[in-house]
Amino acid sequence: MASQTGPRTGKLYALAFGAHPDDVELSCGATLLKIVGEGHAVAVCDLTKGEMGTLGTPETRKKEAERAAQVMRYSSRTMLDLGDSKLFYNEENLAEIIRIIRNHRPETVFANPPDERHPDHVKASKLVTDAVYYAGLRQLETRMDGVVQQPHRPGHLLYYIQFRHLDPDIIVDVSDTFLESREGVLAFGSQFYREGAREEPATLINRKEFLTGLEARARYFGEQIGVQYGEGFLLPSKMAVRNFTSAFPSSTDTMR
Ligand SMILES: [Zn+2]
Repeated sequence: MASQTGPRTGKLYALAFGAHPDDVELSCGATLLKIVGEGHAVAVCDLTKGEMGTLGTPETRKKEAERAAQVMRYSSRTMLDLGDSKLFYNEENLAEIIRIIRNHRPETVFANPPDERHPDHVKASKLVTDAVYYAGLRQLETRMDGVVQQPHRPGHLLYYIQFRHLDPDIIVDVSDTFLESREGVLAFGSQFYREGAREEPATLINRKEFLTGLEARARYFGEQIGVQYGEGFLLPSKMAVRNFTSAFPSSTDTMR
């Protein structure tokens, strides 16, 4: 059912889920590149093949997703087939996501935000949120390749921001990686504006202005923390401060 590029990994730092291929790149790609740059492994799991997309075919999108995985230096990318526009909240879909979490054993999970325009995004958010919890239950048995998996509950869950404007709980400084992350977005060439391809049906994201709009948001979030580019995230619960001085660094590192 699942197709995976890259090695099947053991423990890794971050696992980013998206309802459709390109959700992750469009919303938190620069943060994922920042994590890779800090020396940690990042994997991505697309819950569907994006077969209901107005533009391109599932085959094109699969190739594009693989290309994006290379550009973005993910340790692996898994594409599930839970059904674009049929992504229902049910036991099978939940078990499939729990399997992926237990296989990768991430510290941190990224997911679609709970309040969104596309119904699949809302359902993906709920499925991943609940799977993160259930993956830690010892009595809930899942198997991969016939082998019983060990329970694992990731320590952190972050919701990225998509179409709907949501007020972020935290903003990550992505000034060093934002432009590079654009390459991951452009790997999904069939979805975006191309010069001379105007006979295609218009969609929300193939307008010429769409990528400019994304940059404007990154600039706006960046401005709120006094840097060039930022990516905003919502947290499901309050963030704990464990190491005080790394959360509140001395004034030599921060702007007054
Ligand atoms: Zn999507």
